[in-house]
Amino acid sequence: EAQIEPDPTKKTLVILGTGWGSVSLLKKLDTENYNVIVISPRNYFLFTPLLPSCTTGLIEHRSIMEPIRSILRQKKAAVKFYEAECTSIDPERKVVKISDNSDIRADVLETEVPYDMLVVGVGAENSTFGIPGVKEHSCFLKEIGDAQNIRKRIMDCVETATFKDQTPDEIDRLLHMVVVGGGPTGVEFAGELQDFFEEDIKKLIPEISHRFKVTLIEALPNVLPSFSKHLIEYTESTFKEEKIDIKTKTMVKRVTDKTVEAEFTGPDGKKETVVLPYGLLVWATGNAVRGVVRDLMAKIPAQKDSRRGLAVNEYLVVQGTRDIWAVGDCAVAGYAPTAQVASQEGNFLARLFNNMAKTEQLEQHVRDLSASLNLHPGNSAEICRQIEESERQLRRIKDIKPFHYSHQGSLAYIGSEKAVADISWFNGNLASGGSLTFLFWRSAYLSMCFSTRNRLLVINDWLKSKLFGRDVSRE
Ligand code: FAD
Ligand code: NAD
Repeated sequence: EAQIEPDPTKKTLVILGTGWGSVSLLKKLDTENYNVIVISPRNYFLFTPLLPSCTTGLIEHRSIMEPIRSILRQKKAAVKFYEAECTSIDPERKVVKISDNSDIRADVLETEVPYDMLVVGVGAENSTFGIPGVKEHSCFLKEIGDAQNIRKRIMDCVETATFKDQTPDEIDRLLHMVVVGGGPTGVEFAGELQDFFEEDIKKLIPEISHRFKVTLIEALPNVLPSFSKHLIEYTESTFKEEKIDIKTKTMVKRVTDKTVEAEFTGPDGKKETVVLPYGLLVWATGNAVRGVVRDLMAKIPAQKDSRRGLAVNEYLVVQGTRDIWAVGDCAVAGYAPTAQVASQEGNFLARLFNNMAKTEQLEQHVRDLSASLNLHPGNSAEICRQIEESERQLRRIKDIKPFHYSHQGSLAYIGSEKAVADISWFNGNLASGGSLTFLFWRSAYLSMCFSTRNRLLVINDWLKSKLFGRDVSRE
């Protein structure tokens, strides 16, 4: 029977966030051991790997969302969920301050939640490096709302470009889609956008479709820096075939409502300013630390040298604290900020917490047995045997190995039904690109979807788009 009131004999475990790290922890956590409270401004889990496909309507956004309430319903003991943002963490008083940002203005909008144990899994925010104009004029690609904005904006540009008497220069500007950042987010989005153009837009607005153009800007000498060399070359040559213009060694310095200004470094080291008029600008230059995390770091002296997030030890304990753990993009454990790392960290913490609870139970059991030894001396042989058995179990489970990340490989979609994959294969490395890899990419992502419901919805969206094209009605 689900228990609603907190059990005073159990510790309160507060989990911040409903992303990859926190949800992986929740999935494996035995919630009967703790009073578990989840706090997140988002009442769903988002399967980010397929988010770029939502920007063109290839996949409908609800197909990659899973309500947190349905996830929690499946747990053995009830878990409390508050849809709220954690605005600050007080490690001294062991409380988190939370704020309800909903449009419904209720009586209580802010309150505090005390914790015995805290897991910070709030992810990261978009980096802009303080470049002027970026915040005001760009679209980002991190959350569902971002993908919906982009989808709307693409169709806005297309419809406005076809407006009666539109000038040729303005048509060129409106149909110029600029992506800044050649990491996997920027590359996958550029690929999806070009597919949209080839498969749908061309048919829908043939009169001006030849003016549609995608440009990808990257500050470094090549895109996808974390992939192997031949996959970088494969991606760049595929983009060339797809007519996506890649501008490498080009660093964006300023953005206005209609233009991107960048600095290109030529082979001779000479710098040149380029100005690109755009209709849609998508900014994908990676992660920055969230305010609530920065604020917590400032309160902990041991975090003073950490820049990219909460420095954690090999058990994911935030350095300089005793009861705070961090997972995913907000934690610095020496790995890349990926879903793969976040989910393995979440799984690790679930095992650790299940183990800690079991250890405490066994230790209590040993204490109870020792006490009964004095009360029932006649039974001493049997009680001693039980104590020994419990201590053996204790030794076994107490020996928890530190967190170890096991890299399963990197995958990225690059458009025109092609993907690239860097996979660890029987201790070796397999780097492949092409249409077969695309099928592998689709099946791998399908198998990673959160639920069967998500899986069926995604398959349905793929089929629907193949048969009828993407839905271009602007909501
Ligand atoms: P998130 O999944 O971002 O979750 C953070 C959670 O915290 C959210 O629920 C958020 O609402 C909540 N939150 C935010 N602020 C607060 C607050 N103040 N208080 C409480 N809760 C808060 N990685 C891969 O390995 N493979 C991929 O194919 C891949 N594709 C990607 C595609 C895109 C478009 C993007 C943007 C990322 C992709 N990634 C991929 C990276 C991956 O999504 C992240 O590394 C991963 O989401 C990190 O997990 P997390 O739990 O740390 O954060
Ligand atoms: P990223 O940090 O991987 O890449 C950002 C890129 O932007 C960098 O290459 C950087 O040189 C460039 N950049 C920065 N400032 C610039 C400027 N002013 N002008 C031009 N270029 C600039 O960011 P991401 O692609 O958002 O990825 C974030 C994390 O999520 C990474 O760890 C990534 O591996 C992961 N991710 C993985 C996948 C996948 O596996 N398919 C997909 C998306 C994201």
